[in-house]
Formats: sequence, C-alpha cells, structure tokens
Amino acid sequence: MVGSLSHRIVLLCAALAGLIVILAGALLTVTVQMHNDLGWLDHSSRVLRTANHALGSLRVAESGQRGFTLTHNPDFARAVGPALAAARRDSAELVTLTTDNGEQNERARQLQVLVNGRADTLEATANLARRGAFDQARQATAAGRGLELMQLVDAKVNDLLLDERALAGDRMAAVEQLLRVTRWLVILGTPLTLLMLALVARSLILRIRRPVGAMLAVMGDLGAGQRHARISGEMGSREFERLASGYNAMADELQRAVANQAEAAENLRAANAALSHNADTLRERGEVIEILGGMAHRMQAARTDDELAAIIRVFVPRVLPQIPGALFVHNNSRNLLVPTATWGGLESEQTGFAPEECWALRRGQSHYVDEPGSDIVCPHVGAGADHYHCEPLLAGGEVIGVLYLKGTIGTENRFRLAVLSENIASALVNHRLQRGLREQTIRDPLTGLFNRRYLEETLALEMARASRSGAPLTVVMCDIDHFKRFNDEFGHDAGDQVLQTVAAELRRRFRDGDVVCRFGGEEFVVIAPATDANVLSARVEEVRQAISLLTVRQGERALGSVTMSFGLATWAPGMDREGIALLKAADAALYAAKRDGRNRLVIDPQALAA
Ligand code: GH3
Ligand code: MG
Ligand code: MG
Repeated sequence: MVGSLSHRIVLLCAALAGLIVILAGALLTVTVQMHNDLGWLDHSSRVLRTANHALGSLRVAESGQRGFTLTHNPDFARAVGPALAAARRDSAELVTLTTDNGEQNERARQLQVLVNGRADTLEATANLARRGAFDQARQATAAGRGLELMQLVDAKVNDLLLDERALAGDRMAAVEQLLRVTRWLVILGTPLTLLMLALVARSLILRIRRPVGAMLAVMGDLGAGQRHARISGEMGSREFERLASGYNAMADELQRAVANQAEAAENLRAANAALSHNADTLRERGEVIEILGGMAHRMQAARTDDELAAIIRVFVPRVLPQIPGALFVHNNSRNLLVPTATWGGLESEQTGFAPEECWALRRGQSHYVDEPGSDIVCPHVGAGADHYHCEPLLAGGEVIGVLYLKGTIGTENRFRLAVLSENIASALVNHRLQRGLREQTIRDPLTGLFNRRYLEETLALEMARASRSGAPLTVVMCDIDHFKRFNDEFGHDAGDQVLQTVAAELRRRFRDGDVVCRFGGEEFVVIAPATDANVLSARVEEVRQAISLLTVRQGERALGSVTMSFGLATWAPGMDREGIALLKAADAALYAAKRDGRNRLVIDPQALAA
C-alpha cells in the first residue's frame, strides 16, 4: 500500500516541530527556573543588605549617642533618632523578608527583639543627655548593658548572614547548573534540529525527485515520438501514482486521438484516391462513349454491310486496343453467324457457324476461356483455343450476332466491352430495320424482285457509271406470253403463282450483279451492268429455254408450262444518256418478239451494231 506524500510531509514536519517544541520548552523551563533562582539570589542579597544596614544604623546611633554624651555637641544627638528608626525598620523588614525560611525568620525575630532592646537603651540614654543629664547618661552608658546587647546583635546578625550566604551560594550553584543545561541544550539541540531538517528535506526530495525524473523521462520519450511510452513502476506516493495514472490516461487519449487522426487521414487519402480513380474511370468512360457515339453515328448512316464492316474495323480496335477479334452477324434466313468484320490481324476462314456452336449464344451471356481448361471451348472457335471471349449480341431476345475476341477481357475492359456490344447490337438492329424499310420501298411484295422505282433509280445510276467508265450496259425487258389465260383459266391466285415461279427462275438464272426487277403486271426488266449484248443474249437464251421447260404448279395442281418473250437493248457511249430511252429500245425489241411469234429473244438493232 503506497502512502500519501502529503501525510508524509505532515508527519515529518510534525516530528520536526515536536523536536523544536521540546527544545523550546526545555529552554523556557530552564529560563523560568533561572529567573526564579536569580530572584532568590536577589532576595538573599536584600536580606544580607538589610541585616548589615540594621547593624550599621544601630552603630551610627550608638556612636551619636556617645559623642553627644561626651561632647554635649547636639549635632551628635540629631543623628541618633533617624539611625534608631532605620535600625528598627530594617529589623522589622528582615522579619518580613525571611518569612519563606522558618529558621532565618526565627533568627530575624530574635534580632528584631535585640535591635529594639538596644534601640530602647540608646534612646533612653540619648533622652537623658538631651535633658542635660549628661552624667546620668554617662553612667548608663558605662553600665555595660549596651555592649552586651551589641554583642548579641552582632552574633545574631552574623548567624543570619552566614545562613543567608550559604543559601545564596546554593542558589548561585543552581543558576550555574541551569546555565550549563542551557548551553548543552543549544549545543546539542541546534545541530539535532538542523540534522532532522536535513533528513526531512532529503527524504522529501528523494520522494519527489525519483517519480518526477521517471515522468520527465517518459514525457521526453513521448515528445521524441515514442507514442507507446508510459510511466510504470512504483511512484512512492499516492499523489504521484495518481499523477502517473492521469498522465498515462492522457497519453492513451492522445495516442487514440493521433490514431484517429491517422485513420481519418488514411480514410481521406483512400477516399481521395477512390475519387480520383472514379474521375479517371468517368473520364475514360466518357472517352469510350464519345468513340462509340461516333461509331453509332456512322453505323446509322451506313447503307451496306461492307460499310458496316469498315466502321467496325476502325472503331472496335480503338475501344478495345490490342485485342484482335471478329464480328459475326446473324443471317436470319440461313440461321448462320456470318463473319462481317475482323480486326487486329485476325483472319476468319469461316464462312459461318450455327448459333448452337457458340456457348455465349446458347446461354445468352458472355462466354470466355481465360486460361486453358478453365471453361468449355465453343465449337466455332476450335479446340486449340486457350483464351478467347464471345460476347452475344442480342436485342429483345433475338440473336443479332456475336463479338468474338481473341484474348482475355480484364475488369478494366468490361465496361468498354459492355457498351461496345450494346452499341453494335443496336446499330445492327437499326441497320436491319433500315434495310427492311428500304427493302419494302424497293421490292415488289409478290415476287420479291426489285420494283419499278428501284429499277429507275438503278438504271440512272448504272447509266451514269457506264458513261463514266465506258463499260457497256445492257437491259432486257421480258413479258410472259399469254399470261391472261392463267388468270382466266385458273384464277388470279394461280396467275400470281405463275408470276412468283417465273420471278424465282429469273432471279436464279441471272448473275448476282444483274438487277432483276418487276416492271409491272407480268413484265420484268433485267439490268446487266458491264455486260454487252452478246454475252447477255446467250444468258437470256438459256433463261428463255429454262422457263419454257418449267411446269408451274399451284400446290398439287399443275398449271402447265409457260413461255416468255425477251427484248434486249444495250447502251453504248454516244447514245442518249436517258435510261428511259434504253428501256424503250428494249420494249420495242420485246414488242418485236411478241409480234414474231413469242417465246423468243429479239435484240435491239442498235445493240447489235455497237
Ligand atoms: P401477250 O402474250 O400478248 O403478252 O398476252 P398476255 O395475255 O400475256 O397480255 P395481256 O396484256 O393481254 O394481259 C396481261 C394480264 O395480266 C392482264 C392482267 O389482268 C394480268 N395481270 C396484271 N398484273 C397481274 C398480277 O399481278 N396478277 C395476276 N394474276 N394477273 C395480273
Ligand atoms: Mg404484258
Ligand atoms: Mg404477256
């Protein structure tokens, strides 16, 4: 149990004060005692003085009385009275002075009786002399009674003085003893007090210096940055223990505050870093969105699949750099994913694959292999692929295509890929819709061939191109022979069936580059760019024969065979550039074919000349 420093200070000071009080008490006692003894010494000297004075006064009176008696000189007589009065007074005072001492008092009483007796005789003798009876006075003096009394007085005074001197000697010895005691008290008490004071001071300094030193050391450590420095060990007193625990609590609080501040600073730094990262991400995403906006804008304006492919090839590597890939677009009619564009050095040798060959399309979500054997490999990719990514392009649950990427898409590219695939999917949908709408405006709904409007547009276009390049441009106008009969015989629907069958055959028999159109009713026009009359006439002949060999059927019903008449005209440099003129020439040739018996080809004479 640790004691209180205050209690210790109080105890030590009390002990010191006790010592001082004892010393002071002793000195006071000795002083009082000495004062008493000195009083008694003074008393003894007064007794001695009074006794001597009484004796002296008696002798003065005696000599005065004798002088007067012998000389009759009254001057001697005048001294007698006062001297006797003094002797009587002194002897009475001696009695009073010695009341403290029975023996001396008895002697004083006896002395008073003797003094008074002697004074009476001297007074009586002096009175005789004053009255002139000097002889009587002489006789009385000579009688010798006076001498006897004086001797008694002397002896008594002597006894009294002896005793009183002995008493004074004793009292003087006592005073000297007290003086010695006082000296020793001072000699011993002063250093003892000083020693005790020094011990008290040392004890207190030690009790304060050690804990204060320990605290200062810890404070120094804390000031030097050692946040864990704490005051430990015995403090030696309750006050310092409290001070140390208070200091430790303060240091704990300080450490917590510093830790909190550090934590807050760290949180702030992390928040700042996150904010900066988010800002970078946002900026990067903004850039990506800007690129994709440009891509979407161009894709909207694209007319053909080739244009689409060119845009994809330019923009996809900007969004996903360093990652080769290919875009496969779903062909609805064939249910195939057809390669539309490749980039980053990837060459697609495939002509297409079925949707079932891609796990991304089968599952409707991203499918990737980022290390060999980590996931199943899509059949369309090939067994050897160890890292690739297939991103399905879907819209309203419908397969639009698939984005194949030869590489791993890290988290930093996920956003880019998601936005890219969405943009491409919506652009493809948009393109498909636009193409559908355009198809509706340029196609004939019954036969699926281009309509007359498209024919006129294409003819003007090809005419301009041919005049630029100097290449020939040939058109064929054809008409089903006696078509009206089908309508009449089998009905209008059967007539429609004949139209569809013939249209399909035309479409199939002419080259891809040739534009086959339904001109109206049962008349058709074929535009053959960069083809001269000779080449095309041979093909038309093939077509004519093939059609004449057809047996048109409507369901189970055979509608019979059909023939067509053809008129061919070719545009050559130097001719009128109007497409309508070329059509008229072809129509004229067709008219000639009809007129010449149908199921034949007639070539415009100008075409033959060219
Ligand atoms: P020609 O050998 O002289 O060409 O005789 P044709 O019967 O083929 O020619 P004509 O001009 O006399 O008859 C054409 C008929 O084709 C008239 C019309 O009712 C019919 N027609 C026109 N458009 C359609 C169509 O879209 N569907 C059907 N079923 N018939 C059509
Ligand atoms: Mg006709
Ligand atoms: Mg006809």
